Amino acid sequence: PNLLKNDQNNYLVSVLFDETKTGIAYVDISTGEFKATEIQSREPYSELRSEILRLKPAEIIVPETLKLTEDLSVHITKYAGWHFESIRCEEKLKSHFNVATLDGFGIKGQTLAIQAAGAVIDYLADTQPAALKLLSHISNYSTSEFMNLDASTRRNLEITETIRRNETKGSLLHVLDYAVTPIGKRLLRQWVSQPLLNIDEIYVRQNAVQVLFEKGLLRAELFNQLKKINDLERLTSRVISGHALPRDLVAIRSTLECLPELLRIISEFNAKELEGFVNKIHLCKNELSLLTNSIADEPPATLQNTGIIRSGYSAELDQVIEASQHARDWINNLETIEKERTGLKTLKVGYNKVFGYYIEGSRANSSSVPNEYIRKQTLVNAERFITPELKEYETLVLNAEDRIREIEQRLFKQICEQLSSSSKRLLETSKGIAEIDVLASFAEAAALGSYCKPELSDTQILRIENGRHPVVEKTLQGIRFVPNDSIFEDGEIIRIITGPNMSGKSTFLRQVALIVLMAQIGSFVPASKAKIGITDRIFTRIGAQDEIHAGQSTFMVEMIETANILNHATSKSLLILDEIGRGTSTYDGLSIAWAVIEHIHNHPNIRARTLFATHYHELTQLSELLPGVRNYNVAVSESDNNVVFLHKIIPGGADRSYGIHVGQLAGLPKPVIQRSAEILRQLEISSGKAITIQPDMPQQLMLFPENNPILTALNELDINSISPIEALNKLYEWKKKFTE
Ligand code: ADP
Ligand code: MG
Repeated sequence: PNLLKNDQNNYLVSVLFDETKTGIAYVDISTGEFKATEIQSREPYSELRSEILRLKPAEIIVPETLKLTEDLSVHITKYAGWHFESIRCEEKLKSHFNVATLDGFGIKGQTLAIQAAGAVIDYLADTQPAALKLLSHISNYSTSEFMNLDASTRRNLEITETIRRNETKGSLLHVLDYAVTPIGKRLLRQWVSQPLLNIDEIYVRQNAVQVLFEKGLLRAELFNQLKKINDLERLTSRVISGHALPRDLVAIRSTLECLPELLRIISEFNAKELEGFVNKIHLCKNELSLLTNSIADEPPATLQNTGIIRSGYSAELDQVIEASQHARDWINNLETIEKERTGLKTLKVGYNKVFGYYIEGSRANSSSVPNEYIRKQTLVNAERFITPELKEYETLVLNAEDRIREIEQRLFKQICEQLSSSSKRLLETSKGIAEIDVLASFAEAAALGSYCKPELSDTQILRIENGRHPVVEKTLQGIRFVPNDSIFEDGEIIRIITGPNMSGKSTFLRQVALIVLMAQIGSFVPASKAKIGITDRIFTRIGAQDEIHAGQSTFMVEMIETANILNHATSKSLLILDEIGRGTSTYDGLSIAWAVIEHIHNHPNIRARTLFATHYHELTQLSELLPGVRNYNVAVSESDNNVVFLHKIIPGGADRSYGIHVGQLAGLPKPVIQRSAEILRQLEISSGKAITIQPDMPQQLMLFPENNPILTALNELDINSISPIEALNKLYEWKKKFTE
């Protein structure tokens, strides 16, 4: 237990797939959570990656016959194929749960889910048989109840950890985490990883957050009480599986002792919005009195020591202790009595494991000890003796110790069994406490971050006023984060955001995605007002990162992810496309970006709300060609030679990219800056400044206008018929003309 992280589940996942379906089961034997699902999918790896990123399993088991063609970056255990055999698995589950049918668990007919779950049972029987007792039920989950977040979106949005260092700090989870109990922290992680789709369910959470949000003092009092609560979930699991130690029961006892005060504080909120959560918290009076009456105040750490059971709990135990007490007292008093009787001041009574109790005297006095002393051992300065009487009492004491240990262990086991029969109540209580903790955590984050309560609807509306990036705004020390609106008006599908590097495009895109995600987990959001149409999936493609480690070129990854988006997005999705096409040459990239926007806009099944950030300002022409496209740019204030990025998103397209300005900020040497400004000017002149693109008509984009006389001459020149010196002359002539 000490090796497990408190704020994170520890999952074993079992997986198999065929051509059309993927079966996934997962279990956490420290909490008893056991779930399975079957997903229709022809691309098992994308489903797997997404679930793996959500669950972060410690180990995955797969049938050894399954050919894994991609690296999942998790410890994989190949398990003999017959453990996954479908009929066997169904029988295994039925007999484990002692049921005639799997109907009640919602996995009937989901063959692959059953296979995955059945193999889990076998694997635990092989490796952790005691844990099987913990699995009292299995539940089916459907990835369709939750917002679908693919693996790269989870990573890009830094939901539970950062991209660069894989740390929680800097993630959305970290910003929302004010939970104080380990159970609360684990649940928070689960909620943040699985945004909801059902508006009513979201409102149930949100309304509770509202109540907790409004009463700050009471919330502080609530947190103070929650801090005293131990990990009731894992403690109960240890009791059920027979791994509990005496101090685990003390931890359960002290938690149960906190419940009346916890419920009193919650009742002070006087809110029916909290009822559904609070009703799960049972006072567990019987369990508490059992623990109070049976377990000592401060029992030893292990079952090998005595002193676990409180006196008065078992007459049998008390009798043995009392009977041995006389013998103990006799030994305790022996030293004083013998000192007096023999007059030997150095005499003492001791105990060691080899000889048991003995009387020790200094060697100088060894001739004056009484006759009945039997010499047992000679040391450098001392001699040790026993007497027959001492040995008799010793036997009484040691036998009693053994008896006491044996009785205490038996009683402890009985107490654990009794508690196990209440495990459902204890676990439900734990769940209720965890939920209250998470909701209060949302309320705390909302209060500290001045968040607002978002309104949700079943439309395509997305209206965020004065939105902020929850993480970036916290990291900008002393600098004010500039809030931005994100408003998709009727018929507006795609927002193209142009603007220089470092002006805040990527931040804005992620901020919109995070606000939507926060709204759907039941949290308040960093904005002054928000109205959000339920989003079934968030897709992100954040351009050109180094993904060489995955064995694919950056551009290949970019295109795979773009393909994934175009194949799966619906009109309820939110697309975050940041600089797609950046990973290839300018014209390739521009053409791909152009075509992608057209496709999203025109394909009847997509038309998803899309935020598209780009440094290709040519793309702003699309707004004239496609009615659902609007241009925005990031405001820049320019005075003299000084450029300041205002981080404010305003309507209209940008016409410059200020790349050279960024280079200057970054400290490129002055001559390089001057030279690049010069080259840029030349390029702009020679290209006739604007590159125009016709919709749907891919064409070769040219830097030089086609009617250039030099080009014409070059085209007409027959290289085979001229001498080297003539060629040089021609070159000289053209160069002269060109610079003129
Ligand atoms: P871009 O994608 O346009 O290159 P980023 O979104 O990466 O720019 O932002 C660059 C930096 O600007 C961020 O790291 C952040 O420090 C700052 N920034 C971005 N948006 C804002 C904002 N709204 N208010 C204040 N600072 C911001
Ligand atoms: Mg960017």
